[in-house]
This record gives sequence, C-alpha cells and structure tokens, in this order.
Amino acid sequence: MKILTLHCDYIRFKPVKKALKNIELEKGEEKQVEVKEPLVVLTAVEKTDSEKIVDDYVKNIKDIASQVKAKNIVLYPYAHLSPNLANPDFAVKIMKEAETKLAKEYKVTRAPFGYYKEFELKCKGHPLAELSRILGDVNKVAGSKVEVRVNAAEEKYDHKKLLEQISKSKLDTRELKENDHRILGQKLGIFMFHETAPGMPYWLPNGVILYNELIKFWREEHEKRGYQEIASPLMNKSELYKISGHWDHYKQNMFIAHTDENEDYCLKPMNCPNAMIVFKMQQRSYKELPLRLSDTDRLHRFERSGTLNGLFRVRGFQQDDSHNFISEDMIESEYKEIFKICERFYSIFGLKYSFRLSTRPEGFLGDIETWNKAEKILKKILKESGKKFEVLEGDGAFYGPKVDIDMEDSMGRKWQMGTIQLDFQLPKRFELTYIDKDGKEKTPIVLHRVIYGSLERFIGILLEHLNGNLPVWLSPVQARVLSFTDRNIKTAEKVLKKLEEAGIKADSDFESSTVNEKVRNAEILRIPYIITIGDKEEEAGTLAIRKRGEKKLQFGVKAERFIEDLKREIANRL
Ligand SMILES: [Zn+2]
Repeated sequence: MKILTLHCDYIRFKPVKKALKNIELEKGEEKQVEVKEPLVVLTAVEKTDSEKIVDDYVKNIKDIASQVKAKNIVLYPYAHLSPNLANPDFAVKIMKEAETKLAKEYKVTRAPFGYYKEFELKCKGHPLAELSRILGDVNKVAGSKVEVRVNAAEEKYDHKKLLEQISKSKLDTRELKENDHRILGQKLGIFMFHETAPGMPYWLPNGVILYNELIKFWREEHEKRGYQEIASPLMNKSELYKISGHWDHYKQNMFIAHTDENEDYCLKPMNCPNAMIVFKMQQRSYKELPLRLSDTDRLHRFERSGTLNGLFRVRGFQQDDSHNFISEDMIESEYKEIFKICERFYSIFGLKYSFRLSTRPEGFLGDIETWNKAEKILKKILKESGKKFEVLEGDGAFYGPKVDIDMEDSMGRKWQMGTIQLDFQLPKRFELTYIDKDGKEKTPIVLHRVIYGSLERFIGILLEHLNGNLPVWLSPVQARVLSFTDRNIKTAEKVLKKLEEAGIKADSDFESSTVNEKVRNAEILRIPYIITIGDKEEEAGTLAIRKRGEKKLQFGVKAERFIEDLKREIANRL
C-alpha cells in the first residue's frame, strides 16, 4: 500500500464521472463535501496487500494524525500512487474497515471509490504537512528488485534497448494551459525533466542564467545584512538524522544509500541538521549572535511518483535557506529584519503578500513562558508591519510558533512561499550552547527561514505569474540584434559586440529570413529588446528598437544611450 498524507486547511471534493464499471455511489456521496482542518490520506491499495494491511494503515494514520494534531481524517482513494493496484472490491473493503477503526477516535470522511473527482485542497506549509509512506510487506513489494540485486553480477542488459526505452518520454502538453510553466520552460529553454530522474529538473543554459541571477540577488541582499553563507555535505550518515529526529519522523521521505561498509547514508531533505553541526564546531559567545548561517544546498525528498507536478512538486530542489541563531531577546529585532528582506524580495517581483501566524499547539515542547513571550512579540510586530495577517491559534509546530508568508500571483492564486519559524527544540537536541554575558552557558533559539521558498517552485510560479515575460535582469537574453538585410550584417555585428562588451546578455539573428519572421521568433522567446539594423540605421549610426510589449518602434536611438539605459535597468533590477 502507498499513502500520501496531506495536512490541510480544507479539502473540497465532488464525484464527477464514473471511472470503474461496477461501482455505484453510496447515498449522499454525489454531493460536494468540505472538511476543514483535515488530514487527507491519499491511498492506493496494492495487489501485494493482504487483509492484515488494515492495522498497519490505521496505525500509520494515527501516528501522523497525532504528530500534526489532526482530528479530522479524510480517506481518499488515489490510484495514481501505484501502477500495481489491488482489485476494487478488496480496496473498498480495506478502506471501509479502516474507517470503522478510526471512527472511534476521529471524525472520518471516506471519499467515493471508482469515480473521477474534482477536488481542491489547501495544504499547510509545515515540515510534516506532506508525508508519503509505503506500508505492508516491503520485501514482497520489492521482491523482484531484491532478486535483481543478488544477480547483479551476472545481470545482462542491452544498453541500446535501454537507451531506446528512456528516450521516448516527452512532455504531454495536451491538457496543459498555454502559460503552464512546463510549456514555458520548454519553449524558453529553461528546464526539462527526464524519466531517469523523475521530479529532479535539468536546468538548461537559459534556466541556469535565471537560477544564478536569483541566487546572486539573494546573496547580495543577505551579505549586506550580516548573513554568512555555508555549504555542507549533501549526504550524511544516518546518525545525524537520528539525532535531529528525521530518521524517526521523516525516513520514508528520504533517499537512503547503503554502503558496502554497512552504513546508511541519507541525502539531506533539509538543511537544519548540518547548520546545527556548524554552530557546534566551536565554543560560541553571545557576541556572535545573531549568527546567521545561510545556504542554498540542493535537497532531496522522496515524493511518490504519482504526486510529482512540474516544478511545483519535485524531488530535488534548492531553498534560499538560513538558520539564524539568536537569544530570546533578539526575537523581535530579528523578525523585523527578516520582514524587511521579504518586502525587498516580493516587491521586486510585484507579488502581493500577507502573513499568517501559527501559535502554540496542544502537544507543544518547551516552556510555556517562552512560547507566550514569543507569540506576544510576533503579534505585535505583525500589527506594526501594516500588512494583512491572520492568526491560526494552536496551529504552530510543536517546536515553536511560526509566521508563514502567502503570496498572490497575477491569476489570483495563493501560494505559501516564505516561512519564518522559531525553534526552541532542535538546539536542545544538538546540545548547542553559547557563553552569555554573565559567563553562563545558554541554549540559543534557532530561526529557520526561507524567502523564495524552493527556488524550483518560485521559478515555476514566476514563469506563470509573468507569462514568461521575465524582467530584464532575469532574462537569459536581454537584447537581440537583427539584420534587416544581409547588407547590414557587418554593422549589426559591431552593435552586438558593443552590447556584449558592456556586459549585456545579447545574441543575434542574421539569418536571411524576413525581419517580421525574426521579430516573431524573438517575441516567442520573450526577449525584452529587439534591435534592428537596416540601411537607415547604418547610415545614421543609430539603432531601431522594439521594446517587449510595445507596438511602437523607437528609431534613431544612439547605441551609447541605449546601453547606458539598459545597464541602469539591469542594475536596478527593474
Ligand atoms: Zn531549518
């Protein structure tokens, strides 16, 4: 059995069309159902499951529900999680039994089986909000794979055939909207996926330029605010994750490699544990606080294959992460500093945003005094921020209160991007200390924070929000030079050289096709400035400029003037 649990603000669903012949809706199931604050359990019962799977299923749901403090459970059949589904009667039976067992402690809703459903949900942003697990006899599930491994030495394969198999995959665009980031990504040469690495984007040359510019901006803005960048191993021995607690609570979402020396290594799913290690490398003093250790290392999380979705849900990604170590009296000033960074970042992309504060849950850890103090401060600075915010009482993580940042894109869709989370627990688990003014050892508080969130997801949203029209500073090609006729190529080449020497990302189209055609090609690539050189321009030593989105051409522009203006536009990140 495979399950994916989503801790949500709400879920709404309604059956639309029959997917299996012999299935009928039960009474009341045809209506739209809405459940607030649910733990949604997307479920695929598999061929290899026996009746005993029910207990395992219930146990795992209870385990996750207690960790995220959910009281409402939605059992939701979800065939996409497995290519190896059990027969429908058996699957329905298992889900009904689980429903009965869970109903003793929870309010349970079971979504209809065998129907295409429209559904809408809003997933929370905390680390346990999305978990996927494989249940049952794993050996049995992976039986064939184990055999393959045993026989690996004598395994024979035809590399040509394999190459043929893996070369087939192509983006199926039939059901995608035109501004879908997957289509734009392909059209603009930004990213692609390959079936040998599902959920792990390949960044193409134009995408790497975009990616690096976003990180460059992040780096500049953080360096001036006292952040120190670190980079740490992508893999650590499982011991690290046993100390941090990920091994117990997050193992099913980690890629784990077993070595011949009988050790387990984990690809890191989050940066926090390694940041703790760097803090702990030497005796720290109060004078070093706030100590802000930022990084953009690549992370990997094992999301089930059926749940991957372009850049929005991936297995490999980078965050603009930072772990800020502070003392209790720095909570206010540190949050205020981070709010300033948020304003700088989101306003530059024209994204509207608002805050969401989640406070102490029932099963919190740490002392209540610290919680109360921290929450009071957070409410105060949120009020002072002048931004819209809401308070979700009792919705915080067990380790500390947090402020999430929601933003709205040009299509009115809301996305949770940034998060600023206080954590009183992790420093304790790692026994971090610093020497305070009074000479005594104290435990710091750590503040986990991201502004873009995942860069992959941010780029996906940005592409759709702007319909591919990236601002000039992020554009992989900022200006393209066209020759009106072959006669003009020489002069056009000189113009291109001038642009390149000025540090502008420019290219050219000197094909012998018509100018209209060349302009159209440049427009498809959303190039911000198209420069045409014809006889008139050659004579006058000027440029004809077409600015993206403007119908009118500007004639007679001096190259120096254009370059100066463009350089200013790029430097100011307009
Ligand atoms: Zn963290």
